[in-house]
Amino acid sequence: MKNYDLIVVGGGLSGVAAAIAAARDGLDVLLIEKNQHLGGAASNNLINPFMKYCIQGESGLTRLNNGLFGKLVDTMREMGGINESDKLNVIFNVEYLKFILENWCAESGVNVMYGTAVISADCFNGEIKSIKIFNRDGVGEVSAKFYIDCSGDANLAVMAGVPFMLGRKADNLCQPMTLCFWISNVDTEKFKEERALINPKYKEFQKKGFITNSRENVLIFHHIAPEILHFNTTRVVGLNPTNAEDVTKAQFAARKQIFEMYEFLKNNFECFKDSVLLMSAPEIGVRESRKIVGEYLYTQDDIINFTKFEDSVACGCYEIDIHNPSGTGTHLIYLDRTKYYTIPYRSLIPKGVKNMLVAGRCISSTHEAQSAYRIMPIICNIGESAGCAVACATKSRVELREVNMGDLHAILDKYGVKYN
Ligand SMILES: Cc1cc2nc3c(=O)[nH]c(=O)nc-3n(C[C@H](O)[C@H](O)[C@H](O)COP(=O)(O)OP(=O)(O)OC[C@H]3O[C@@H](n4cnc5c(N)ncnc54)[C@H](O)[C@@H]3O)c2cc1C
Repeated sequence: MKNYDLIVVGGGLSGVAAAIAAARDGLDVLLIEKNQHLGGAASNNLINPFMKYCIQGESGLTRLNNGLFGKLVDTMREMGGINESDKLNVIFNVEYLKFILENWCAESGVNVMYGTAVISADCFNGEIKSIKIFNRDGVGEVSAKFYIDCSGDANLAVMAGVPFMLGRKADNLCQPMTLCFWISNVDTEKFKEERALINPKYKEFQKKGFITNSRENVLIFHHIAPEILHFNTTRVVGLNPTNAEDVTKAQFAARKQIFEMYEFLKNNFECFKDSVLLMSAPEIGVRESRKIVGEYLYTQDDIINFTKFEDSVACGCYEIDIHNPSGTGTHLIYLDRTKYYTIPYRSLIPKGVKNMLVAGRCISSTHEAQSAYRIMPIICNIGESAGCAVACATKSRVELREVNMGDLHAILDKYGVKYN
């Protein structure tokens, strides 16, 4: 059985950042991803753009999520992989993202294993000893001193027996699943004129029962290519994103909504008259599923009060943004644009397992708090800090929960990662 210093499960932005952060400090890292590319939700679910990650300073915007995320944006910009028309969010070319992340993994010596699903964990005395994997070779086993679960759904944590929460407290319902899609050959000049007419017509059609999607409006973003529009607008509610039957039902329902939406647009707006339904994401997007029970439960109050934790490892300024888990409407709490919140290391430490951290959208938090920190710039920041924490624990020969914050913050400073 092959043995590593660290195994990271999940090649989304949190997982890639965690793996690179540990490898650049000399650890032998294995990054396991069940699909055939990196980027996670950006690649699997076509999630775009990067939501806002800058605060308003006295002399302009100040970037919060620097470190690897900042470098990613800068590198894509240098390569011409960003549509500069959106001043608030970053519309990026997902092919550039996959390419850059693979290059960075190769350069920093991360061992990437694609097409490989982690299927079980062998635990003893509160530690993961090894994990079973399934891929083209069949079932295999690998082990490491430390593990980071960046699977989005806290899959490894659950396999290792970590307690978890699903969705919101009242009824365990999660934020809706969404299948994103692209429409090409849009007449962009006409779109500018007609854009304001789309939502009123959509609402009218919803009332008449012609539109079955429960989302309150049509959410459209520009794309890296000018004549393509990106739709983040299907909404499937009431299903469990950690249940295979439910996710299949969600995928079927969302695809119906895509065709319903495309017909609606094509038949009612000049700008879509000659448009082409280009593609949908390979997988339906899951905004929220399990969140682990960890050493600290991160809450909405921490976000709206801009709490600065002593053990903070990441920062964010994105608002509370809860897409209704049971129907129409989106609950938003906007934040002061000059302030930011921090995320504590303790929320990455799961109860009951000593040699694992959890990073990404499934850290220990409430449904409400998760709706804010779940965006890509912040989860990339959380992942990078988790990788740095494992490097720190390895150097100091301590357990993950005993990492000295001064030492960890010194590593974060060295790599330009903002944490407070
Ligand atoms: C519909 C939707 C719209 C969104 N809109 C935006 C937006 O506009 N802007 C923004 O910044 N954020 C947005 N987000 C949020 C953001 O995209 C995600 O929260 C974030 O990307 C999650 O990152 P992650 O690394 O935690 O997980 P993911 O990116 O989901 O990565 C997890 C990876 O783990 C892999 N994996 C899972 N289980 C296993 C296993 N057992 N074995 C091996 N591999 C496994 C998966 O294949 C996946 O690649 C949106 C999310 C959704 C779903």
